Amino acid sequence: MDDAKTQWHELFHEVVQTGLCTGCAACVMACPRDVIGYDHAVTYQPFNVEPTTLADNCVFGEKGCDICTRACPRFRDWETASDVALFGRARNADEPAGIASHVLLVRATDTETFDAGQDGGLVSALLIWGLETGRIDGALVSDFSPVRTLDAVPAVVTDRAGVLRTAGSRYTYSANPLAMREAEAAGLKNLALVGMSCQASINGTVQANRLNKYAKRIAITIGLLCSKTFTYDGMYEGMLESEYGIPLESVHKVNIKGKFIVWHGDDDTRVDIPLKDTHKHTRPGCTTCPDFAAEHADISTGGLGQGDGWTLTLVRTQRGLEWLEGLRDAGLVEVRPGEEDPAALNLMNKLALASRKRWPAQRLGLDDGAAAPGRATLPTLLPIPEVPPRA
Ligand SMILES: Cc1cc2nc3c(=O)[nH]c(=O)nc-3n(C[C@H](O)[C@H](O)[C@H](O)COP(=O)(O)OP(=O)(O)OC[C@H]3O[C@@H](n4cnc5c(N)ncnc54)[C@H](O)[C@@H]3O)c2cc1C
Ligand code: SF4
Ligand code: SF4
Repeated sequence: MDDAKTQWHELFHEVVQTGLCTGCAACVMACPRDVIGYDHAVTYQPFNVEPTTLADNCVFGEKGCDICTRACPRFRDWETASDVALFGRARNADEPAGIASHVLLVRATDTETFDAGQDGGLVSALLIWGLETGRIDGALVSDFSPVRTLDAVPAVVTDRAGVLRTAGSRYTYSANPLAMREAEAAGLKNLALVGMSCQASINGTVQANRLNKYAKRIAITIGLLCSKTFTYDGMYEGMLESEYGIPLESVHKVNIKGKFIVWHGDDDTRVDIPLKDTHKHTRPGCTTCPDFAAEHADISTGGLGQGDGWTLTLVRTQRGLEWLEGLRDAGLVEVRPGEEDPAALNLMNKLALASRKRWPAQRLGLDDGAAAPGRATLPTLLPIPEVPPRA
């Protein structure tokens, strides 16, 4: 990070207002004064709730607090700083999916865990093993919303039943770091953070910028490969319910495998929706995201394996390797080399390259889009909310 002091003012203008904000909620989690609130339902964006300053300023920031900017995985040189903090070097151009020591295909051996999992159940197997061996006392995950059918909300789980209940993928956005408050209130000290690529990069920023409280408390970060999430009203209420006539309460499972696939009803009817029809429902926070492969997680996981039921797994850090080896040695997972599925690796690199082009040229120090063919340019600035001083 730059030496000049930065605060919510800079974070707001450089990340939120420019449309680079993913809504990951790292700033909300880290703010020690509860200045930053979060809209879970529509914008998935942070905003200033502190009553004495303008929407783009912070009274504690004026006095020197810079913690929100240090937590943010989209502020200034976040990507290189996190690469260096975690791996000791910046990534090379031929590493579009980030730096990894091992690429594997993994699946849980326990039938209940495998069946609950979206792909091979690795994420759930890691969480259960971590909880049952005392490596963690809780995990920040995503649960089903109690009020919006099929929607995802942040949650804390502390046992096997909780992990299995919250396994599988929901395709709306769940800012899992927000569950840190609940975990802290419950006195939990060692946590796993499960999250989309954008949330997994918190693993890098807390280490790069010495947010030691969270660097210590988050014992392992498990990333989910991700090219986008969808808006609830567009994808679920609009497309599934209104266009396709699928009652949301009847849906058993949703997956993305080249198509958006929905299983629903008593006879488990399968409906395949072409991906091109879903693009218009992309959540705005995803449109500038350059990170497909959860590049700063300890372990990144995805469903690109061409045979069903294996989690494509990138082990990135030493502690990620220790966790995976522990799980394997306990007989809780089967592990195959990733090279056995070259199509999955090709697809991962292709999708990672496509996502990297979303990061605006201006943020790379390039003059314009022409300097990087196919690369996005900085979006039009969003308006600053008209919030008068509330002193
Ligand atoms: C929105 C989304 C988009 C994805 N896109 C891709 C993709 O394009 N390509 C790809 O290869 N893989 C993608 N994945 C990852 C994939 O779906 C699986 O999560 C991954 O392979 C791990 O499978 P598993 O069986 O090991 O995990 P499981 O054992 O099923 O555990 C999954 C974990 O994810 C958490 N979770 C579920 N939904 C959400 C959510 N919305 N936000 C945050 N956490 C959540 C659960 O709480 C659980 O802890 C995506 C996942 C999500 C949630
Ligand atoms: S990207 Fe995350 S940390 Fe940065 S401003 Fe947005 S919500 Fe906050
Ligand atoms: S594409 Fe995925 S990782 Fe990127 S901002 Fe959207 S949810 Fe986060």
